[in-house]
Amino acid sequence: MSPRPTLGSRGVALPAACDVAIVGGGVMGLATAYHLSQVSRLRVVVLERSYLVSGASGRNGGGVRMQWGDEGNVRIMMESIEICRGLTQELGINLWFRQGGYLFVARTEAGEARLIRNAELHRAIGAPTRLMSAEEARELVPDLEVSGIRLAAFNAEDGVVFPWPFVWGYAGQAIRRGVVVRTHTAAIAAEPDGSGMRLRLSTGEHLRAQIVVNATGAWSHDLNRSLGIALPNRPHRHEILSTEPLKPFLNPLVVDLQSGLYFSQSTRGEVVAGITVPGGHDDGTVVDQRSSLRFLAHLGANLVALMPRLGALKVLRQWAGPYDVSPDGEAIVGPTPGIPALLQVCGFTGHGFMMAPAVGRILANYIAHQQRHPMLERWDPARFAGGATLRREDMIIG
Ligand SMILES: Cc1cc2nc3c(=O)[nH]c(=O)nc-3n(C[C@H](O)[C@H](O)[C@H](O)COP(=O)(O)OP(=O)(O)OC[C@H]3O[C@@H](n4cnc5c(N)ncnc54)[C@H](O)[C@@H]3O)c2cc1C
Repeated sequence: MSPRPTLGSRGVALPAACDVAIVGGGVMGLATAYHLSQVSRLRVVVLERSYLVSGASGRNGGGVRMQWGDEGNVRIMMESIEICRGLTQELGINLWFRQGGYLFVARTEAGEARLIRNAELHRAIGAPTRLMSAEEARELVPDLEVSGIRLAAFNAEDGVVFPWPFVWGYAGQAIRRGVVVRTHTAAIAAEPDGSGMRLRLSTGEHLRAQIVVNATGAWSHDLNRSLGIALPNRPHRHEILSTEPLKPFLNPLVVDLQSGLYFSQSTRGEVVAGITVPGGHDDGTVVDQRSSLRFLAHLGANLVALMPRLGALKVLRQWAGPYDVSPDGEAIVGPTPGIPALLQVCGFTGHGFMMAPAVGRILANYIAHQQRHPMLERWDPARFAGGATLRREDMIIG
């Protein structure tokens, strides 16, 4: 007898039909599958065209924070962080969730005003963000170059996770509860089929489902295109690196609001750092996961300006992954206009990983029990129709 697969398999048999087919085996697809298996008896299939952490979910910085500019996003992240606290036990896998906090530093008047406004909002809804001077920030992060810093904001409940076990944990528990996770199988086209949908797969198979969830992240517009759906989210390359390990010296993840630089220290001691290179370096039509020297130079200059002590550090790895960027920086979650059997869960820009614990639960309750969480209105895929002016979240980094 072959061992029970825990991370999905290309060999697992597919049914001809299921209730919910989730396309995309990243954190969004698997968190949704896991929560569906908890709140319903629906037959759920996850299709992943490669291996489970091959997309953005296996390439990100693992930052998790409730410091946002919009009340809905702060609340979603308070919910997500609350879930994260118990998730290692719930999923039975070490997620390396370390709450060392997030420290935002502002070097402009506009950045300072943003931090003050956000801290007031956070205080009003119970998120423990506190403002601090440059000197106080240096007490928290020794060797921080604080000469240009006007104000900082710190929230001790923010933190970092190790993304891979997070995804594996959701997959393992979903499979244990009866979800079929088929890897190395792409959905190459979708078409309406009665009240549901029919997927054509790269293996030559077909799968019918009452509901299809498009959880393909930065590739979501490809699947949508096969149905003639034009949503405005687009892929953008985002680069990141990690260094040789150092003894623990850095508790919070540090973000420079002005440059978009962020860096943290992993539990293994590596400094993990990212930044978006100004001017853009892709055309937003295809997913580009190449690394660039330009990023390395830009990141190095900004990191050393803020932490001169890191100047001699050796970079061990550098990689890129896709942000899935929506025009207002908000996610796109819910039924597709004109095709209610197709649900979208995409457009998460650079913050999908941290939101997935809450989003997976929200989407599962919507599918299984038609529960409408207030954020589903904000995230409605129909909001782009008619050219309405959309409010933009102002704490998007990178
Ligand atoms: C460098 C970098 C740093 C980041 N840092 C952070 C951070 O610190 N905190 C945070 O919260 N977020 C961060 N993000 C964003 C975060 O990684 C994403 O928002 C999140 O992982 C999106 O998850 P997903 O499941 O929607 O997409 P993905 O993980 O990309 O999963 C989509 C999956 O769909 C599969 N797929 C595509 N097309 C098909 C198809 N036709 N059929 C079957 N399968 C298909 C892909 O192979 C992929 O595995 C970062 C992203 C990058 C690139």
